[in-house]
Amino acid sequence: MNSVFSQLPTTIFEVMSGLARDHKAINLGQGFPDDPGPDDVRRKAADAVLNGYNQYPSMMGLPELRQAIADHYRRFQKADLDPDREVLVTSGATEAIAGALFALIEQGDEVVLFQPTYDAYVPLVKRAGGVPKFVNLRPPHWTFTEEDLAAAFSARTRVVIFNNPLNPCGVVYSRAQLELLASFCIRHDVVAICDEVWEHLVFDGRSHVSMLSIPGMRERTVKIGSAGKIFSLTGWKVGLVAAAPDLMKVLAKAHQFLTFTTPPNLQVAVAYGLGKDDAYFANMRMEFQRSRDRLSYGLSERGFSVMPSEGTYFVTVDLSGFGLKDDAVFCRELVLKRGVAAIPVSAFYTINPVRHVVRFCFAKHDATLDAALERLENMQSFIDGLGNSP
Ligand code: GLN
Repeated sequence: MNSVFSQLPTTIFEVMSGLARDHKAINLGQGFPDDPGPDDVRRKAADAVLNGYNQYPSMMGLPELRQAIADHYRRFQKADLDPDREVLVTSGATEAIAGALFALIEQGDEVVLFQPTYDAYVPLVKRAGGVPKFVNLRPPHWTFTEEDLAAAFSARTRVVIFNNPLNPCGVVYSRAQLELLASFCIRHDVVAICDEVWEHLVFDGRSHVSMLSIPGMRERTVKIGSAGKIFSLTGWKVGLVAAAPDLMKVLAKAHQFLTFTTPPNLQVAVAYGLGKDDAYFANMRMEFQRSRDRLSYGLSERGFSVMPSEGTYFVTVDLSGFGLKDDAVFCRELVLKRGVAAIPVSAFYTINPVRHVVRFCFAKHDATLDAALERLENMQSFIDGLGNSP
């Protein structure tokens, strides 16, 4: 059997959601909203299942969806995309990342990754033959410097995977940070696979800056978005990919033998949804921001040291003040004894993990957040009781 997958544990999201189900816990672990998603978008999908076209759609995605993606990114990010040559629809962002790696690297090529790394990246890089090289981000700001990049990039670097906004830390990187990373990509002739699935989930008046818009990056960026994240329909698994024609030609070859297509009925609904008015997107942001504030405030009231969340569905807490040594033990015990599921941030590390940071998902109804907060009282005594044994 292949050693990458045979040695891999089950993903932390599945593990924590399983424990949450088994123990009837409140699930603030895996990132999915309580909200069922916009009614009109779901009706479009239902209607397309009943009355629409359910055979294989075009391999690159329904033309109406590719046009909608180009229009959407023009409206929100001033991107200029040719829907026929620069847009691809995949079955989720993870397929897009896997396909991009298969398409872009050869055995032994180095891939620069930022720790904490979304958990799918490292196994996919390795299975594609790549050699991961890590930049370590540190709390509370999780930023990177020129020296960090200089240490990770080499003559063998072919690809960097960059997640912005960053899951699990909720960081929205500044244009200056993007430009710094871009300067390394340009100098080393590297392609940036940019996982921008949280692009609409940015708060406090921020707007998303895509790597595509950074000078010199238009021809060397694979931008990946997710309809599931945009419309709170995470199970739909509709990925939105944009890249210059030379890259896209090769990405298409990988996609054609991974999933080939994505359910056309969902594509019809996503095409409709991407055209919703600006107010819809502004309101969605406002609602998530309100939930972020509710959970962050409740956690700080209970003595948690809450780190800023500028985007995503997540807020992280630094538990070193409580003397926590092992976030994985903490999360397991928390779901069993307190009935709240969270995600240990160490699960996003391959080497030298940070072990005192835990991620909570705030994309939930007020009642869910309030019920979880009630179960998170007296954390000091809870953590003292853990013994912190690994
Ligand atoms: N992106 C989701 C999260 O970070 C998890 C997705 C999954 O479980 N594969 O929680």
